[in-house]
Amino acid sequence: MTKTRESTIGIVGAGIGGLAAAIALTRAGHDVVLFEQAKQFARVGADINLTPNAVRALDGLGAGEVARVTAARPTHRISRSYDTGEETSRLEMAETAERKYGAPQLTIHRADLLAALADMFPAERVMLGKRATAIAAGETGVNLAFEDGSSARVGALIGADGIHSAVRTAMFGAESPRFTGIVAYRAVVPAERVQGVSNLGAFTKWWGPNPQSQIVTFPLNRGRDIFIFATTPQGSWQLESWTAPGSVDELRAQYVAYHPEARALLDACDTVLKTALYERDPMPAWSAGRMALLGDAAHPMLPFMAQGAGMAIEDAVVLARHLEGVPMSDVAAALRRYERARIERTSQIQLGSRGNNWLREGGNADWVYGYDAWAVPLSAAAEEAIA
Ligand SMILES: Cc1cc2nc3c(=O)[nH]c(=O)nc-3n(C[C@H](O)[C@H](O)[C@H](O)COP(=O)(O)OP(=O)(O)OC[C@H]3O[C@@H](n4cnc5c(N)ncnc54)[C@H](O)[C@@H]3O)c2cc1C
Repeated sequence: MTKTRESTIGIVGAGIGGLAAAIALTRAGHDVVLFEQAKQFARVGADINLTPNAVRALDGLGAGEVARVTAARPTHRISRSYDTGEETSRLEMAETAERKYGAPQLTIHRADLLAALADMFPAERVMLGKRATAIAAGETGVNLAFEDGSSARVGALIGADGIHSAVRTAMFGAESPRFTGIVAYRAVVPAERVQGVSNLGAFTKWWGPNPQSQIVTFPLNRGRDIFIFATTPQGSWQLESWTAPGSVDELRAQYVAYHPEARALLDACDTVLKTALYERDPMPAWSAGRMALLGDAAHPMLPFMAQGAGMAIEDAVVLARHLEGVPMSDVAAALRRYERARIERTSQIQLGSRGNNWLREGGNADWVYGYDAWAVPLSAAAEEAIA
């Protein structure tokens, strides 16, 4: 087991948010240890859409350049009606977004993003196979117990352990996320196999007959592949796992009423994964004493604004900025200030994602895409922090 001290910040969860926080906190001068339940970093997951706010946060961490090596840069963000195919909105991305927001939109395999982040944090400070099962905070530190029987003590703890967060449960009690009544199909097809579909280089959203039904497509692997993300209502989800192999025939049957161009993409699929979508309500607080949450542990959201990973990366940057130069004796107040600085934005995006109306017929994306985690004013709410 790696050495931890009472001046060490522990992070539970080495996903996108945990790794980003580990890099940013180390850079802010802290000793950081990551505890991850997985025994190794595996190449799992599918594509992830990073909007300019997320890419700018990554760029500041120093991970953007590596991410760009395999990522694609969608040319536009287009909305189309599922039946007529009519275009209801079109936003220029790529160079236009770069000029306007200081970063482009990138679409990247989740594993490539994780690898880019993992390469920036010392491997010997990542404790793999450490599933946190018991967490207890005291005045001067936090004790952790792991499934393998080992334990650790740190000066402060960040819960970046996803929607089922054990840290969240330790802080606020058990409460299960809700099945939303929506399932998602995800597939990747070689671009050369897709015939008769316009704007393959764009992020395109086909808006369905109800708010739960949609097909989103965008380029992947520098445009060599096309990623398909389709959602539809479903009454219940019986499987224990959230993700299961899906049936391509079932996928095509769900979208028979869609425009021929949208169906042509589904026709090109060989395999598909099916995932149940879960969510929680925004929390009124996500820090308590020397512990705080980050990413999906704090604010899991539906993928309809493509902001879950982006919010986790923004959290990491803003957290590290609030903790820069802060001694452990003041860490609780600093964690509270971090939470105050982030909670309004993440709650608004959580609720906006649930509404699933984002950029359907145009609208101003600046409040989401124009946010700069490296430059937003730090929260000065010290009185709130202490109250
Ligand atoms: C279908 C779908 C599509 C999505 N598309 C997008 C998109 O296009 N753009 C976007 O920005 N976001 C998207 N998201 C959201 C995004 O995936 C999440 O918001 C993001 O992964 C959150 O990162 P995180 O680090 O907070 O949590 P996670 O990625 O869940 O990582 C949590 C980590 O903690 C570990 N862990 C969990 N419990 C423990 C424990 N007890 N002890 C130790 N380790 C533990 C896990 O193994 C994992 O490594 C999508 C989500 C879904 C479901």
